[in-house]
Amino acid sequence: MKKRVGVIPGDGIGPEVIGEAVKVIEAASQAFGVELELTRFDWGAEKYLREGITLPDGAVEMFQKEYDAILAGAFGDPRVKDNKHAHDILLGLRFRLDLYVNLRPVKLLDEKLTPLKGRTMTDIDFVIFRENTEGAYVNVGGVFKTGTKDEIAVQEEIHTRHGVERIIRAAFDYAREHKRKRVTLVDKANVMRYGHDLWQRTFFELAQGYPEIEVSHQFVDSMALLMVLNPDQWDVVVTNNMFGDILSDLGAALTGGLGLAPSGNIHPGRVSLFEPVHGTAPALAGKNVANPIGATLTAAMMLEYLGYRQAALAIEAAVVSAIHAGAVTQDLRGSLSTTEAGDAIAVRVRDR
Ligand code: ATP
Repeated sequence: MKKRVGVIPGDGIGPEVIGEAVKVIEAASQAFGVELELTRFDWGAEKYLREGITLPDGAVEMFQKEYDAILAGAFGDPRVKDNKHAHDILLGLRFRLDLYVNLRPVKLLDEKLTPLKGRTMTDIDFVIFRENTEGAYVNVGGVFKTGTKDEIAVQEEIHTRHGVERIIRAAFDYAREHKRKRVTLVDKANVMRYGHDLWQRTFFELAQGYPEIEVSHQFVDSMALLMVLNPDQWDVVVTNNMFGDILSDLGAALTGGLGLAPSGNIHPGRVSLFEPVHGTAPALAGKNVANPIGATLTAAMMLEYLGYRQAALAIEAAVVSAIHAGAVTQDLRGSLSTTEAGDAIAVRVRDR
């Protein structure tokens, strides 16, 4: 049965890199008989400035009822000062579709991409499960005596048993399914003594249901150090919303930079949203220079989620082959444009 995918290219380099990801999906569709119906939505800064519309009424319900996945680019525009449209579209979908897993692989595809001396592909290959609906991102708090010398600002983190349990369970289930050896919890329970202690208690309790999987724990400061010193220690890392955001950027740096990093915002079993980790990169927009690999690997993640594992593996192999051949954009010291780099991947998917 045909799967339905909503495509929202967005702003900045979003449309350019998503255009290439769609090109690669089409190549995979031909090569592997992947049956997808892609529907494009023009939501983003232009539409907001023109019509005042961010996420249209009924969009969330439409995705819930009629779609299997969403492929999004990036949102943000210097002309929209508070980036209201980005907030409404991206955070709106993340929260209202209850996409509680932010899955961010940290996988080195070629030795020459890592800044870590002597590290190889087998050393850097883990996934980060970032909680995506709670923590510091709930916008609970306020300010008092604003703009005075006595100003007080309070910003709360929210951690619920339900929210913590389901992301930890998702991490363990993933480890079991993908034959990963170890799950590591990252928190700062020595300082955030109530909220992060809830994570620790829940983690070690749930771990009992997965006796074949090793468990370990790191405080976030130590994890930042060890991701650089011993990247080979990690398999599956589970953490809260803010620490996942920060550590996955560090992970992107270990594997070649933001231009390569994919991510999925997932509610297992429901319509889920896939987007590259990078943002709109305004300085690169419209120049046909952005790296399409992050968006392309994101499309591969989406295909895997939709059950097309062969096609997903073929896209990853095509990306690896293009990188080996130096058929890449300037950020990876290549000389190709965005469209040429997309072609180099698409052709390899077709000729697999
Ligand atoms: P936003 O505010 O939308 O997050 P930003 O420019 O602050 O945009 P990113 O878009 O994440 O943040 O990019 C930060 C920098 O990383 C860019 O300026 C660019 O140098 C580099 N970068 C990000 N994505 C890519 C890409 N796809 N190709 C090449 N370089 C990229």
